[in-house]
Amino acid sequence: MDFTFTDEQQQLRRTVREFAEGEIAPHVMEWDEVSRFPSEVIPKLAEMGLLGVIFPEKYGGAGLGYIEYVIAIEELSRVDGSVGITVAAHTSLCTNHIFKAGSEAQRMKYVVPLAQGQKLGCWSLTEPEAGSDAGGTRTIAEKNSGGYVLNGAKTFTTNGHYADVCVAMAVTDKSKAHHGISAFIIEKDTPGFKPGKKENKLGLRASDTSEVTFSDCRVPSENLLGREGEGFVNSLQILDGGRISIAALALGMAQGAYEAAVKYAKQRKQFGKVIGEFQAIQFKLADMATQIEAARLLTYHAAWLADRSAQDGSRYTTQSCMAKLFAGEVAVRVANEAVQIFGGYGFTKDYPVEKFYRDVKLCTIGEGTSEIQRLVIARQLLGKK
Ligand SMILES: Cc1cc2nc3c(=O)[nH]c(=O)nc-3n(C[C@H](O)[C@H](O)[C@H](O)COP(=O)(O)OP(=O)(O)OC[C@H]3O[C@@H](n4cnc5c(N)ncnc54)[C@H](O)[C@@H]3O)c2cc1C
Repeated sequence: MDFTFTDEQQQLRRTVREFAEGEIAPHVMEWDEVSRFPSEVIPKLAEMGLLGVIFPEKYGGAGLGYIEYVIAIEELSRVDGSVGITVAAHTSLCTNHIFKAGSEAQRMKYVVPLAQGQKLGCWSLTEPEAGSDAGGTRTIAEKNSGGYVLNGAKTFTTNGHYADVCVAMAVTDKSKAHHGISAFIIEKDTPGFKPGKKENKLGLRASDTSEVTFSDCRVPSENLLGREGEGFVNSLQILDGGRISIAALALGMAQGAYEAAVKYAKQRKQFGKVIGEFQAIQFKLADMATQIEAARLLTYHAAWLADRSAQDGSRYTTQSCMAKLFAGEVAVRVANEAVQIFGGYGFTKDYPVEKFYRDVKLCTIGEGTSEIQRLVIARQLLGKK
């Protein structure tokens, strides 16, 4: 067992950190305040290869694995979770679904420009009436000469307004329940495809979260992703990787909040001492650091399993759910304690912990709530389907 990162992985971390601190940090509060999607960052992320970390070079990617991908998401999110989730939805949901389930032609046509970052992707599973119960999808895809006609609406799609390519799930055969749901690749200019309401959110405000609608949207047969009826089952496998992204997002934000709290504890004086000399503050920092370390181990272990799975096809559902559940809940606790360490100033926008406090909450909700993670973990433990 070797827990050390390779020289290349450490170099990647330094590079992403330098980029995030230099080019993202100065703007985060301004983007957050007005809920502005940072479009200008996308070409820079592409140039650094950060929009295709996990894909082979043949398909436009960096040819690296989940460990490197987690490093990138962690470091981006340490500075801004909005950028972290933008990259995560593009990579581990949209592009990865096409990479895993797509034909060679679909990989060449879509994965290549997505992984190179010439195009941005989104992934639409959730609907207004089908959230945790995503199998309750109502968007329909009716077979028509030469393709399918999609009608319905998706909600909470990350990158919905800015994506060039959308992977969406729709019902092709209602009688087959979960096995009657298929996945489709929709290009943004397809008539009948339209991003709708943008959510005005508590946190991650610079990331775009939107409704996307399909109104007699004709999709050619060649854009069916995987076989008909396999869209939902494939989505569950895609979420195994997606949940590691959310764990990495949580880890990065927890680390950012923790570091801000340590810095403040060494500066702020009360009763003639820096507050870091009070045992109450020391214990908080010790608990925060310990919990972050445990979350880091679970997250990188899940990433390691994901990389192994790419070689031998083994599943890592339980570990990805555990990492997501634990890291998400740790991030919420750590950000809460960070605000407490800042006292009244933690409640203001003059310091970064207020934003972390708002942003981290998504980690116990997105890609399956904490309750659903527990449910999936328990099912695996009890050997239930
Ligand atoms: C910022 C953001 C970005 C997102 N990005 C995407 C995206 O890119 N693509 C996408 O498809 N979706 C996305 N989502 C949707 C997200 O995955 C869903 O919000 C999430 O799965 C929960 O669904 P819901 O909101 O409908 O909650 P509900 O399912 O309505 O849940 C409400 C509450 O009931 C609980 N609950 C529900 N069922 C059970 C049960 N069986 N047992 C116990 N408790 C239960 C839940 O845990 C929760 O506490 C995003 C959401 C947000 C907020």
